[in-house]
Amino acid sequence: MLNKTQELVYPYPGIPAPGAATELENGIFWMSLPLPFAMGQINVWLLEDGDGWTLVDTGPAIPECQSIWNTLLNAHLRGRPIQRIFVTHHHPDHVGLARWLSDRFSCDVYLSRETADKVTFLLQDDISYYEAAVSQFYRAHGICEPAAFVEFETGRKYRRIVSGSPERMRYLEDGDTLEVGGRAWRVLLCNGHARGHAALYCDTAGVLISGDQILPKITSNISLFSMESETNPLAEYFASLQRLRTLPGTTLVLPSHGRVFSGLHLRIDQIEQDHHARLTQVESFCDRPRDAAEISSLLFPRQLNELNRLLALGETLAHLRFLESERRVQGSTSNERIVYSRLPG
Ligand SMILES: [Zn+2]
Repeated sequence: MLNKTQELVYPYPGIPAPGAATELENGIFWMSLPLPFAMGQINVWLLEDGDGWTLVDTGPAIPECQSIWNTLLNAHLRGRPIQRIFVTHHHPDHVGLARWLSDRFSCDVYLSRETADKVTFLLQDDISYYEAAVSQFYRAHGICEPAAFVEFETGRKYRRIVSGSPERMRYLEDGDTLEVGGRAWRVLLCNGHARGHAALYCDTAGVLISGDQILPKITSNISLFSMESETNPLAEYFASLQRLRTLPGTTLVLPSHGRVFSGLHLRIDQIEQDHHARLTQVESFCDRPRDAAEISSLLFPRQLNELNRLLALGETLAHLRFLESERRVQGSTSNERIVYSRLPG
């Protein structure tokens, strides 16, 4: 059990205002951009790198963010160029302006091969080939009108807020080291939230740039999507948390959303507890055969917009897949619909 008196520590006063930058220790600058989604904002990080800068993540390609970037570039770069962009994962708030910024500075974009593949897939013009399969997947899970889900999963929405596929991509492998300003940052690839999600850890600075893998207030979305329907994202996420747990407890965590914090091990405990509680809840909803859409509406009873309905269903499916792998529930197909039932344990 968690000790209730333990709390995360937030060593900096608050999230920087749009257009402002907070200097952390070790030549790291914290900046924030607004998001048109529920999370509200995304953090991006500028690392001093010799004569220039390495940027981590970019914000989505929306006019508001581009205008804030123009302010940031004038106010905080001290006349030095961005010479490298590191992208944690393919979600639009992270990679959205990578093409725009890399064109502007003629710099390379560093990302995992899986992230690059996903960006390329979601930005391709003709995805009609996939539409039927995605639609069938969601119908089988109880979504009668899957058109909005198909739009998200095949990239129609994505293309509106991503500036393009970067022309100069450099692929990162797990365990690679990036030298930034004389410091070594180790690349940690972690699945679960997004395949090929890369975090960066600097031992000498005691800093983890966690991306969406670990957030201070909300649990990252862990979803099973139609394109990766054979995977077990929650099991992969638990494995990545175990790996991040081996980092020192004093590590300063720089998350993509919310405030910089310390208390890495406590946060991992909290996140694991949240998922285990949800697993128990999902298992209890399988007391009689139900499809994933019904279980999702029991788990998330409030009214949700289209994106959040997709994420809620994805989260439900990820938990069901994990329970299946543990032989706690079983999925079976009847009348072209997949229903889940509890297994006697
Ligand atoms: Zn994400």
